[in-house]
Amino acid sequence: MYSYRNKVLHVDLTRQRIESETLQEEFCRKYIGGNGFGIYYLCKNAPPRVEPFDPANVLIFATGPFAGTCIPSAGKYIVHAKSPLTFLMGESVCSGSWGPTLKWAGYDAVVITGKAAQPTYLFIDDDSVQFKDAKDLWGRDSWETEDMIKETIGDRDISVAAIGPAGENLVRYACITSDKSRQAGRTGMGAVMGSKKLKALAVRGSKSLEVAKIDELVEYCNRLYKDCQGDATKYYRLYGTPGGMISLSEMGISPTRNWQQSSDHVLHEEFTGETTKERYHPKMIACQGCPIACDPVTVLKNGPYKGTTASVEQESLYGLGLSTGVGNYQLMVKATEFSDRYGVDTISVGVTIGWAMECYQKGLLTREDTGGLELKFGNGEAVLEIIRKIAYRKGIGDLLAEGVKRASEKLGKDSQHFAMHSKGLELPDYEVRGLKVCALAFMTSTRGGHHMTASAYDFDLAGKVEGTKADPAYGRLVADRENLWAVIDSLILCKFTRKVITGYEQIAELYRLATGLFLSVEELSLAGERIYTLEKSYNIREGWTLKDETYPARIFKEPIGNGPLKGIRFTEEERSLLLEAYFKARGWSAEGIPPKEKLAKLGLDMVTYGGN
Ligand code: SF4
Repeated sequence: MYSYRNKVLHVDLTRQRIESETLQEEFCRKYIGGNGFGIYYLCKNAPPRVEPFDPANVLIFATGPFAGTCIPSAGKYIVHAKSPLTFLMGESVCSGSWGPTLKWAGYDAVVITGKAAQPTYLFIDDDSVQFKDAKDLWGRDSWETEDMIKETIGDRDISVAAIGPAGENLVRYACITSDKSRQAGRTGMGAVMGSKKLKALAVRGSKSLEVAKIDELVEYCNRLYKDCQGDATKYYRLYGTPGGMISLSEMGISPTRNWQQSSDHVLHEEFTGETTKERYHPKMIACQGCPIACDPVTVLKNGPYKGTTASVEQESLYGLGLSTGVGNYQLMVKATEFSDRYGVDTISVGVTIGWAMECYQKGLLTREDTGGLELKFGNGEAVLEIIRKIAYRKGIGDLLAEGVKRASEKLGKDSQHFAMHSKGLELPDYEVRGLKVCALAFMTSTRGGHHMTASAYDFDLAGKVEGTKADPAYGRLVADRENLWAVIDSLILCKFTRKVITGYEQIAELYRLATGLFLSVEELSLAGERIYTLEKSYNIREGWTLKDETYPARIFKEPIGNGPLKGIRFTEEERSLLLEAYFKARGWSAEGIPPKEKLAKLGLDMVTYGGN
C-alpha cells in the first residue's frame, strides 16, 4: 500500500525489546490510521480494567496515511492509553513535525508496553531503535529535554515528543510536548509516559514516502493549498484560534470564573485575537506542510515577563484566564509557557485552579490549605505559583494534580457541585447550558468533556440550530459528526481545514490518490462508525455506565448567571431526551450499549465487554 509504511513498531520497555509488525491492507481499510489504529491496539493489547499507571497499560503513538505526504495540514499524530484522569479511553491529537518524521523513519505507529527500570528515552533513527539513558533529562522541563536530546544526538532537525516534571510526577492531566509549542494535551497521556519512566521519543526519518498517483495528488493538493489560503481559513491565519473570542462573550457562551458567569466583555476583549495581534504582534507559525499557519507565537518585548515566549490558543486562554478570572494577556503568555514547559494540559490545569478559587471564595479552602497563597479569582501570580506546585505535587498542588473530579471528591464539602468536568475530563470553553448540541456532544464524547470530538459548537455558531432548545434531531447531528471526526482523526487531518476539505467525497478521493485504495463514501462513513463504536465499547469494558454521561450539579441546578442567555438551564429532562435520541440514532440500547448485531455489522468481533 502506498502512503502507509505498513509497519507498526512494538516496544517493550521492561525487557528493552522491539519487534515490528507488518500491517495488512484489510486492517488499514477497516481502521484507516491514527485514531483507528490507536483504539484498536488499546483494546487489543491493554488488559481489561488495567490501572492506568500499571506497566501493562499500553501507550500508542499513531500517525495517519496522509502524514508525510503533500496533503496539507496532515502532519499530526495521536496518542492513546487508558487515561489516569477518566479511567476510560485516553486520546489526544498533537500537531507539529513528529508525526510526519515517524512516517519518514518507516513506521505508522509505535505501541509501547512495560516500564523502564531507569529513566529512558527512545531514539528511532530510521531502522535503528535505541533505548537511551535519560537520567540527566529526568527533572528537566519539556523544552530543555528537547534541546538536550538534539544536542546529544547532534542534529537540530530530529523531532522530539517529551514530558516535563508533571508527567514524571504523575499529574493526572500531564501532557506531551512536541516542537515546544505543540501538545498532546488532553486525558493525561504525559502521566502514562511518566509512569513508564519514558522521558521522550526522539525520531529521525530520512526515507522517502511514495504515494499512488503523484501527479493527480499534486494537482489536487495545489487546489487545496489555494483554498487553505482563502476566506475559509482567514481568521485562523490572521489571529489563530483566539480570533473572534469577543463574539463568544457577546453571545454569552463562554464561561468565566469557574462557570459562575458565561460572558465577560472585559476579559474577552483583552484576549481576543484582534486585540493581541495589535498589541503583541504574534508570529504565525505553521505545522509541517500546512499553508494555514494558525499558531500565534508571542514573544513579550517588555513588562514583568519580558522575554517569555509561548503560543497562546483560545482554549488556553479559557482555562488559564477565563476560568480563573485573570484578565492579563501577558500573564497568560507566562502561564502558557509554564504549562508547556512543566507539561500540563492548559484546559485541565486552568479549570482545576478555577475550582480551587471558588472553594477559596466559599471558605472551603483556606489560606492555610494553600500554603499562604491568596487564591482569589483574578490573582494571576497565584495561578503561576499553583501551576508550579501542581507540576511538583507540592502542598495544595498534590490535591489539584488529581484533576477536578478527584480533587473535589477528596475535599468533599459539596465541592463536586461545581467541579466542572464530564467523565473526569475538565470541560473546555463553550457554555453547554446555552448550546444544547454541545451539551449532548460533550456528554457523549468517549474521551470525556472535550470540544474536538465533534466540534458541535459549529452548528450553533453557523446558525443551523436554535442552541438554547433541546431537540431530538441533535442525536443524529452529533452521531454523524462524531463518525466523520473519527475518520478525520484517523487520516489525521487538521480540523481547521474543515471548510476546505468538507466531507467524505473529498476524503475518498484524497485517500485513493495517496494510498491507491478505494474506499467509497459509505465505506468511509462505516469506518468512522466502527472506530467510534470501538471507542465506546472500550469504555464499556473499562466500567462506563449510563450515569457517567452527565455533568456536575451546577449545570442542571443553576441557570446561566449573566449575559444574553441569563436564566437558561440544562435540565435532567433535556439530558434524557437528547441521550435517548442519540442512542437511537446510533442503534444502541436505551442504556447506551451497542448491541451484538451492530458490532457484527461493523466487524467488531474483538469486543467482549469483559464477558457481560
Ligand atoms: S491549521 Fe494550525 S493546527 Fe492545523 S495544521 Fe495548520 S498550523 Fe497546525
